[in-house]
Amino acid sequence: MACSLGIDISSLPQMLSELSHKTFIVSMHLIKLAKYFNYAYRQPMRSSMRSCRKVHFVIYDFIVIGAGMAGASAAFELAEDGKVLVIEAESQPGYHSTGRSAALFTRNYGTELVRNINALSEPFFRTPPESFTDCPLLSPRGALTISAPGEEAKLDAVLSLSTIQNPIIEMAVEDAIAMVSFLRPDRTSRAIYEVGVTDIQVASLLQSYLKGAKNRGANIITNAPIIALSHTNRVWNVSTGKNTYQAKTVINAAGAWADEIGALAGASHIGLVAKRRTAIIVDAPLDCDTDKLPCVDFANSEAYIKPEAGKLMVSPGDATPTPPQDVQPDEMDLAVLADWVERETLIPIRRISHSWAGLRSFVADENPVMGYDPIVPNFVWHAGQGGFGIMMAPALARALAAICLGHQLPADFTASGISATDLGVSRLL
Ligand SMILES: Cc1cc2nc3c(=O)[nH]c(=O)nc-3n(C[C@H](O)[C@H](O)[C@H](O)COP(=O)(O)OP(=O)(O)OC[C@H]3O[C@@H](n4cnc5c(N)ncnc54)[C@H](O)[C@@H]3O)c2cc1C
Repeated sequence: MACSLGIDISSLPQMLSELSHKTFIVSMHLIKLAKYFNYAYRQPMRSSMRSCRKVHFVIYDFIVIGAGMAGASAAFELAEDGKVLVIEAESQPGYHSTGRSAALFTRNYGTELVRNINALSEPFFRTPPESFTDCPLLSPRGALTISAPGEEAKLDAVLSLSTIQNPIIEMAVEDAIAMVSFLRPDRTSRAIYEVGVTDIQVASLLQSYLKGAKNRGANIITNAPIIALSHTNRVWNVSTGKNTYQAKTVINAAGAWADEIGALAGASHIGLVAKRRTAIIVDAPLDCDTDKLPCVDFANSEAYIKPEAGKLMVSPGDATPTPPQDVQPDEMDLAVLADWVERETLIPIRRISHSWAGLRSFVADENPVMGYDPIVPNFVWHAGQGGFGIMMAPALARALAAICLGHQLPADFTASGISATDLGVSRLL
């Protein structure tokens, strides 16, 4: 029997079995060929890839540059809605400013804008999202500010910031000296106390942000300094030399290096100045219970002393402009600081058990810089955190995510009178 194609249907089973045998033979040849090509071409390709950059073909929604507190908190918030990659130059997140802070939450610190942002961060610190952290992020500390004779009026400015929610009270000098036994009675003429100042568990906060970001699907790579950025076909190519990663949007959270990253991207120059601050750790006098001591600010200088793991951290509150680098304390600064401690307090310095310096990076108005660059597309600044980057982090990261996702600033920002322009780059140009 013949069908319309002229094939004898009765021979069809025979033909099919021959065909499937031929198909099998052809497939085997194809597999062999594929194996040959693999061997002949992939081997040399692999070795040439060793000397070539790898381009990763995932296009992230956001690449965050820097895994300090600014970058980590931004990654956490952004990862809720987008695919995030954090790229950190150092082997450890938090190696620079974030790991060198005094770890204080002081609502009344910084410019008016900064103080407003600090206040907006407080609810997150007090009630973080469920399973964000397994320890409290804030612990009570309190801050005493004292003046030396003749400088009593300097405390009025601090006192004027007192509010019902965050009271600052005048304290009898004798009570202040009873509270802090290392104060020199002859150098203490007036004292005020702010109960709301707390310690921040900076290491836990940073790790919780990073862990939370990972749980939301973010990738984090370290040991990967970015050396080039280019924007083509609506995609950023972010190169570490070894690898190139791609994203629709880049977040510049490079701390003291933010202007350098901006320059690589051809973005605006925000005039960031990194300022070195020095700190030492010394033994507390024997009669001092460091658990109960407040932080002590000295109004006659920028210096402050705070308990740190059973000892005392002392900083002169210096702010020396310094190029971005792995900054170290200056020997002369350490000598001057030790001399200041012995003159202004009753702390005997037998030895300095540890010293360090860190960079606090400011733009001209000392407010943070957060928002899209006006020159290059989809390049977002998250810099200029100054001496308040830890305490501002929760609120600023929320605002950054809102802006990156095309929303308005969060309602609590607008209710506090903060606009995108107050934070944005254009104010600096
Ligand atoms: C002595 C001192 C005391 C302080 N006390 C307080 C305080 O009590 N409370 C408070 O809130 N704040 C305090 N601060 C300020 C606070 O530490 C900073 O504002 C904050 O850490 C800034 O965080 P950041 O993420 O912007 O910067 P960083 O922590 O410096 O992070 C930036 C990251 O970017 C990375 N990076 C840079 N360039 C590249 C590149 N090319 N490629 C990849 N990665 C790159 C860096 O390696 C770095 O890890 C203090 C600072 C100092 C120095």
